[in-house]
Formats: sequence, structure tokens, C-alpha cells
Amino acid sequence: MAKRDYYEILGISKGASAAEIKKAYRKMAIKFHPDKNPDDKDAEAKFKEAAEAYEVLSDENKKSRYDQFGHQAFEGAGGFGGGGMNMDDIFSQFGDIFGGAFGGGGGFSGFGGGFGGGQRRVKGSNLRIRVGLTLEEVANGVEKKIKVKRKVQAPGTTYKTCGTCNGSGQVTRVTNTILGRMQTASSCPTCGGAGQSIDKKPSDADAQGLKVQEETVSVKIPAGVVDSMQLKVTGKGNEAPGNGISGDLLVVIEEQEHDTLKREGDNLHYDLYVSLPDAVLGTSKEIDTVTGKVRIKVEAGVQSGKILRLRGKGIPSINGYGSGDLLVHVNVWTPKTLNKQQKEFFENMRNDEHFDPKPESSDKSFFEKVKDMFS
Ligand SMILES: [Zn+2]
Repeated sequence: MAKRDYYEILGISKGASAAEIKKAYRKMAIKFHPDKNPDDKDAEAKFKEAAEAYEVLSDENKKSRYDQFGHQAFEGAGGFGGGGMNMDDIFSQFGDIFGGAFGGGGGFSGFGGGFGGGQRRVKGSNLRIRVGLTLEEVANGVEKKIKVKRKVQAPGTTYKTCGTCNGSGQVTRVTNTILGRMQTASSCPTCGGAGQSIDKKPSDADAQGLKVQEETVSVKIPAGVVDSMQLKVTGKGNEAPGNGISGDLLVVIEEQEHDTLKREGDNLHYDLYVSLPDAVLGTSKEIDTVTGKVRIKVEAGVQSGKILRLRGKGIPSINGYGSGDLLVHVNVWTPKTLNKQQKEFFENMRNDEHFDPKPESSDKSFFEKVKDMFS
């Protein structure tokens, strides 16, 4: 099969600058890196192909020869022949391509793995913590200071490049088979693939050089959160050893029950009790809302089961689209015991036809009204 054009391999034009060539190769190297494409022969071939193209195009001298003569320029002695570059050659380029991140002169940088896509980047574990919120806090949003016990790198811990894998995180074994040299890679048994190991650590650090520390983390909780909802605070979980990345802190919302308000989605419900005379004569009553007490008017002749709707006095939508309502349920309170005089008073009332029920359509039963509300 004919060799592909080096510019084509890297997806660049003939006029590409040195920086563009480097950038294009970096992209290819990340995309087709064997770690990202385990056991993918096609990717490995492309990875090698790109490395070869870069080897030539990044060298002024070789580039001008290639530009003049094409692949023929390198045939015979000193060329790539059919053998191509081996992996060690390729990885040795990386110090140049990926800058300091590949300090070891070859492999990966281990815990931190500056390798583009983030292979081997060890991540600390996530922490989960439950936070109780009052309904008022849910409604208004709140900033909580949460005490978290998280693993952090113990001061004094130093890391070194793993000697077993030289920081690559992998050990390769080369065996000669009838099909030729076979190279198999597996995760380094010494460092577990991180590429780094502990050099020195204080006595109070664990095997990874970490120790538990209590920290106060400030968490902004938006209005409208729902019970069991999980908020993520990036990077506030356990730290990773070396230059790995920290895990996340997951804050689980626990809504506390309110004394007088019941939540149903974004709506709130409040049971208002009025006395018989108040129901008959009308009154005004103070009720609880999530933003404090408000006084509402109860019309004379109010029926038990009437629902007074306070628009927008519910819970704000977590998506930021408006707020629910506060539904005040009117309950006319009936005394269970009466003295003689009170009893006479009610007997007289009973004999007066004026007090016989004469429901109007506006006095629909509670259930009919609820049905109306949600239809
Ligand atoms: Zn190792």
C-alpha cells in the first residue's frame, strides 16, 4: 500500500507553520494514543503514522527534502524503511510536544498525567454529605457553611517517578513470536498505573500520602431545591496523590418538615382555622409564609373548605420560572363541648330557618374546588 502524504496524515496544508504542525500532531497523538485505544491495531498504526509524519515535518532539513522529493527522499539508508518508528522513539518526542508535563523524558507524568486527554489522571474519591434545610431556606436560597472531613495531601509528602514503569504507569513486555515481536502493555503493579510513587511522607499520612482534614466548605444553595436533590461542589471531595485531581463534594438536600406549611411541588398549603363567629362575621388572620407572616382577610360568611390562593407565595421554581402559590385552606372550627347557656343559644339558632344550609355554586365542596384548581 502506498504511503500516505505526511500533510494529509496530520490534516494540514503544505503551508502549515511549525506551530500548526505541532498542534496537529498533538491532536493526533492524543486521539490515537494506545492507552485510549487498547488493542486497536488501526489506531496504533495511525498513531505511528502520525509520529512518523511529525518526525519529518518538524525537522527543517527533513521537511524540505520531503517537500522536494516526497517519500522517496527517505528510502534506503537512514530512512524509515518499512520498520517505522518504535514506540520508545515516539514517546521520546513527547517531551517536546507536551512540554513539561512529560518531564520524565518519555512516559507519562503519572498521578497528574499531563497527557492531553487526561489518561492516568488519578482522581480523588467523591464525598457525599447531607444538608438539612428549612422550608424558608429552600424558598429563599441559602449559603451554607458545611464542615467536611476530606483527605488532603499531607504537608511534607513528596512523590517520585515510579521506578518500575519510569512514570509511564504501564509495563510493556516484548515477546518474540512467529508473527514477529509482540508488545503487550499492562498497568504498572508498583504504582497502580499512576506513574508516581511516594518518596517521603510524614508519619500521620496514609499509604498515598494523604491525611484527613476538617474543612469548612461554603455551598450556595439556590432557591427551589427539592428533597434528595444532589448539588456538586467541584474539587471539594478527597484530594488525589501527586498532581492528580480532587474528587467532588456531593451535597444531598434534606428538606425539613415545616410546622404549618406543607409543600407540594412548588405550591404550599396552609390550614387556617377560624371560629364559628369569625366565619359568620368575617375577620382577618395572620398566617405563616416562607417570607414571614402576612395578614389575610377572611370574608364574612366564609365556608369551611374554602381555599384562598396567595399567588407567588409558594416556592420559586428551581429553573427560575416564577414561583408556586400558597393555598390557604379555611377550616371552621366547631366547639366539642358547650355549657348550658351556649347550648340554648345554638338551639335557638337551629330553630331559625335562616341558618339552614343553602349552598351556592361558589360554595362548592373542597374536593370539587381542588379538582377545579388543577384542571
Ligand atoms: Zn509504576
